[in-house]
Amino acid sequence: MLPTVYFVIPCYNEEEVLPETVRRLTDKLHAMQSAGLAGEASRMLLVDDGSKDKTWELISRLHEENPAVEGVKLAHNRGHQNALLCGLMTAMEACDCAISLDADLQDDIEVLDEFVRKYLDGCDVVYGVRNKRETDTWFKRTTAEGFYKVMKGLGVDVVFNHADYRLMSKRALEGLAEYKEVNLFLRGLVPLIGYRSDYVYYDRHERFAGESKYPLKKMISFALDGITSFSVKPLKLISNLGILISVLSVFGLLYALISYFAGWAVSGWTAIVCSIWLLGGLQMLCLGVVGGYIGKIYSEVKARPRYRVEEHLQHKEPDQSENS
Ligand code: UDP
Ligand code: MG
Repeated sequence: MLPTVYFVIPCYNEEEVLPETVRRLTDKLHAMQSAGLAGEASRMLLVDDGSKDKTWELISRLHEENPAVEGVKLAHNRGHQNALLCGLMTAMEACDCAISLDADLQDDIEVLDEFVRKYLDGCDVVYGVRNKRETDTWFKRTTAEGFYKVMKGLGVDVVFNHADYRLMSKRALEGLAEYKEVNLFLRGLVPLIGYRSDYVYYDRHERFAGESKYPLKKMISFALDGITSFSVKPLKLISNLGILISVLSVFGLLYALISYFAGWAVSGWTAIVCSIWLLGGLQMLCLGVVGGYIGKIYSEVKARPRYRVEEHLQHKEPDQSENS
């Protein structure tokens, strides 16, 4: 029996790219079905992450026109990771394996066959790994690669140059479902599930329409979340303040030392001023780091729902619709 493959695609304000994405993926799915890599019940599942534009209207229309398109609408914007998790958990019910990819098709869809072939060879997780980062700016490339290195250095098991383009089998998805954490960082979680895994190498393209939903600020914050798993803004501010004061304290220190040697200072003043500046800065910095972890515990303890599904558009299997 051919595997039921689901493509899971989180979409946030993607009205510009979706029609073309769905057209290309439909062709790809048909090609894979003809090649004996995907069964008839294979689908693409578009998750609308609370978009503000016409993305959901578009998904509903595509669903009516195209028997391969299913849609899930989240009640509000929960961010890429949560939207993806929702898609994967929804797909898990119906699929043998699910492949997650971005709506802008930056991830080369020509390698989708390879993912499924590796799955058929017995892999439960297949990671898409970028060959080169030529389409990225120097800055994005350096920061992204630096991020993987820092993660590795901190002992986090992440696959170098792998983002969220990956295949997961049903049992790997069931494994993922057992991780209840609110601070989601899927590329850190998936390696923890275990099972046999492999890699597929691909070139990443430019986004063909629309804008990146990951501006620099979001990227930096995503990277920090990956390290502490998440953080709470006011607590982050404290550590930033600590860094600032630590830097300022170096100047304060220099000033105090100069004053001492120049003979401007009264005796004992230098030592007091230096320790106030240095220790004040350091304490704030440490408080910020500790606070960061407490913030993480805070959101985990609340265990708020990670997403809420507002609508689910599905094509019923022929035998089910006859019964209903
Ligand atoms: N995305 C999402 N929710 C968000 C932000 C982004 O579902 O809050 C989706 C977006 O529609 C896309 C994917 O996440 O399918 C990756 O986003 P994008 O292409 O903008 O990021 P980049 O490739 O620039 O890092
Ligand atoms: Mg993109």
